[in-house]
Amino acid sequence: MDNKIWLSSPHLSGSELNFVKQAFDTNWVAPIGPNINGFEKDLESYLKENTHIAALSSGTAAIHLALVQAGVGPDDEVICQSFSFCATVNPIIYLGARPILVDSEKDTWNICPKALKEAVEDRISKGKKPKAILAVHLYGMPYKIDEVHAFAKAHKIPVIEDSAEALGSTYKSRKCGTFGDYGVLSFNGNKVITTSGGGALVCHSKETKDKTVFLATQARDQAPHYQHSEVGYNYRLSNISAGIGRGQMEVLDKYIVLRQRMNKFYQEIFKDIEGVRVQKEYSKDIASNHWLTVILVDSSKTGGITREDLRLALKADNIESRPLWKPMHLQPLCEDFPYYGNKVCETLFENGLCLPSGSNLNDNDRSRIKSSILKVFKK
Ligand SMILES: *Cc1c(COP(=O)(O)O)cnc(C)c1O
Repeated sequence: MDNKIWLSSPHLSGSELNFVKQAFDTNWVAPIGPNINGFEKDLESYLKENTHIAALSSGTAAIHLALVQAGVGPDDEVICQSFSFCATVNPIIYLGARPILVDSEKDTWNICPKALKEAVEDRISKGKKPKAILAVHLYGMPYKIDEVHAFAKAHKIPVIEDSAEALGSTYKSRKCGTFGDYGVLSFNGNKVITTSGGGALVCHSKETKDKTVFLATQARDQAPHYQHSEVGYNYRLSNISAGIGRGQMEVLDKYIVLRQRMNKFYQEIFKDIEGVRVQKEYSKDIASNHWLTVILVDSSKTGGITREDLRLALKADNIESRPLWKPMHLQPLCEDFPYYGNKVCETLFENGLCLPSGSNLNDNDRSRIKSSILKVFKK
C-alpha cells in the first residue's frame, strides 16, 4: 500500500527546532518567554493594521476570550454562522449563552447577509439584541466583510472574525483577521501553519491585548500574593509552541502559494469533468489562502457519481478526503437553538468534499490523487 496522503498535515521547515532549542537552552519552558513575544511580533508585522496579538493555547480559547470581552454571559444570544467547525459555537455554550445559527450564501459559503439581517431583526423584535456576531472565513474564503460589518456597525453589535482557517487570505488587499472587533487565528496541526496546537486573538489596542493576556493567565490582580476579582482562564501559549510558530512564520507566505497551487491543480483536473465544481474566488477583491480545496459534486450531471463515491475511491487508494463541515444547526448539540436561512449550507454539506491540500504534497502525491480521481470519472 502506498503511503497515506493526508488532507492537511503539519509541514515543518526545520528552523522551528532552533527556536525550540533556544527555549530549552535558556530554560524558558513555560507559558512565558521570548518566543511568545517574538511570535506575537511576527504576527503583528504580518497582519499589519496596527494589530496587537495575544498568543493563546488554541483558536477555541481565542473565541472564548473574545466573547467574554464582548460581555457575553448567561442567557445572552450570539449570532453565529451555522456552517462551521464546532469550535466556533462551543465557546458560546461555555458561557451559558445561546447561539443563533445563520445560514450561508452560495458564492462565499459563509454567513448570508440577508439571513443575518432577518435573524438580528427577529431577535431584536423578540426583545433580545444579539451581543456579538461570529462570522467565519470558511476554508480560507473571505466572507462579505463590507456588508456584514456595515450591518453590524449600524446595529452596534461587535463582530468576532473567525479567521482560524484564513491566515493569509485577503479582502481588498488587507489580511483577514484584522477587520473584526476581534480576530481569531488557529495554529492547530491541520491549519496553514502550526504550533502543534495554539491560537491567537487579534486585538486593535494594547489595552485589549493586555486584558486578553490577563484573562488568559488566571486574571491575577496587581498584588504580591495571588489576588483575584474576576474569573480567569489558563489559556496562554507555551514558549515551546511559540518557538515552532516563529519557525513557521518564516515559511508562511511560501506555504500559502503552495496551497493556492493545489487549488489550481484541482481546477485543472475538474475543468473537463461535468458536474464537479471547485470552489474559487468569487470576486477580484479577494484572495483565499485555499487552506482546503473543496469541490461540489452534482450527481445529476456526473452520471450518478456522488461525492461519497469519490471519497470511497480515494480512500481505497489511501488518500484522505472529507465531507464539508456538518452545519451546526443539524448537530444534536444545537437542536434547541434557532436557525435562520434557506438550507444553503445543508446542500453544500450534502454535495461537498474537501481534498488533500497540504503545502507538503509532492508531484508523486499529485499524480496519485489525479489518477484516483480520473478512475472514478473514467477519463
Ligand atoms: C480550527 C478552527 C477553530 C479552532 O481552532 P483550535 O485552535 O483548533 O481550537 C475555530 N474555528 C474554525 C473555523 C476552525 O477551523
